[in-house]
Amino acid sequence: MSINGEFLKVTEGRPGGSGIVTSRDFAPGETIMEVTADVELADPSRFTLQVGIGRHIDAGDIRYLNHSCAPNAYFAAADARLVAVRAISAGDEVSIFYPASEWDMAAPFLCECGAGSCVEFVTGARFLQPEVLARYRVNEHVLALAGAEDGAGAEDGGKLPASGDQ
Ligand SMILES: [Zn+2]
Repeated sequence: MSINGEFLKVTEGRPGGSGIVTSRDFAPGETIMEVTADVELADPSRFTLQVGIGRHIDAGDIRYLNHSCAPNAYFAAADARLVAVRAISAGDEVSIFYPASEWDMAAPFLCECGAGSCVEFVTGARFLQPEVLARYRVNEHVLALAGAEDGAGAEDGGKLPASGDQ
């Protein structure tokens, strides 16, 4: 399997499972790839990326992109791009912070990324403390949902879209 031509590829069968590894360097801010949706869905699955409120895309092999609490890349939903957030070297695995795009994940998991800042239980931005989320570059729809939740009050969660709980 390969994505985006010659320099990103899906690795399989490693101890940590599948992932996406690059064979070239990227500078911070550089576009790693454009993300093209195969299909857009109203609810998340374990393979989708959230691109807006009630909008989730399945984009082929990008489903192999792993999470890290100290990511080297950012999925910019509005631009449909994967962007380097720090220098990435050939041979590195590309990773993103899932809650930067995912509000309420279909397939939460216990993170073992080993970062000092590890959030441990990765369930989506909805379940992170604001000060934790503030450490990361986050998509507009996540900020909008966080703002809506703050304003909704405890007795009125009804302003939020359905959580899409599988
Ligand atoms: Zn982690």
